[in-house]
Amino acid sequence: MQLGRRDLITGAAMAGAGATLASGAASAQAGPKTLFAPAVTTIPVVGTTDVFAVRRIYCIGRNYPAHSREMGSDPTREPPFYFQKPRDAVQNVKIGEVADHPYPSLTKNYHHEVELVAALKSGGKNILVGNALDHVFGYTVGLDMTRRDLQQAMGNEKKPWEIGKSFDMSAPMGPLHRVEDVGHFTKGAISLAINGKVQQEADLSWMIWSVAEQIAQLSEAFELFPGDIIYSGTPDKVSPVKKGDVLLCKIEGLPDMSIRIV
Ligand code: MN
Repeated sequence: MQLGRRDLITGAAMAGAGATLASGAASAQAGPKTLFAPAVTTIPVVGTTDVFAVRRIYCIGRNYPAHSREMGSDPTREPPFYFQKPRDAVQNVKIGEVADHPYPSLTKNYHHEVELVAALKSGGKNILVGNALDHVFGYTVGLDMTRRDLQQAMGNEKKPWEIGKSFDMSAPMGPLHRVEDVGHFTKGAISLAINGKVQQEADLSWMIWSVAEQIAQLSEAFELFPGDIIYSGTPDKVSPVKKGDVLLCKIEGLPDMSIRIV
């Protein structure tokens, strides 16, 4: 039987990979060429020259009681729910800068949600709550920026939230801080101020589902991997922003993160 073209290409790729591993020599004819490969999304890691490559961005919904109520839910411990943002939604914000953040298209009600973000160094399926924090590489302060009008309209029609949550630049965040440097965040103040006036203010201990519980829950639905990051939910008093507003996000134990809506 004659080999198909696919078999020939795969064989060549494997031989090429083997040769490269063994000798380090590049093979000009090895393997299929990757067309239009997207750039890897990375987040700087404080205290190192390394960057963290992002695989997936998971976000939990309605994870503080008062925010759950303001979104129309009963904040008793109903099972958590999750959505994702694309990894290229990340906007890296440097420590000490006020990063320009574009007001997005299509919305007339663009909301801030300040959140603790956890980044994973390892993953798995069915992770136990007791071991879950062992998988965390580090933390940062993030914003889950939301086209609230579109999110709510889609929700009302029982359609996906995608257009309200998962758009370009919807995930501004500071650089990552390694667990070995900053520890874990199970309590501590979290806040957001607009133009110097505090708007969101809470304590991380008020989360309905802890970061450890979120990792365990997510790992029942998805196999988690290094590079996955988790937005752990926002406190109440989410509100609209307008062009010119400066948002200042704080979590006790991490540097501030700030953007200006432009
Ligand atoms: Mn959120």
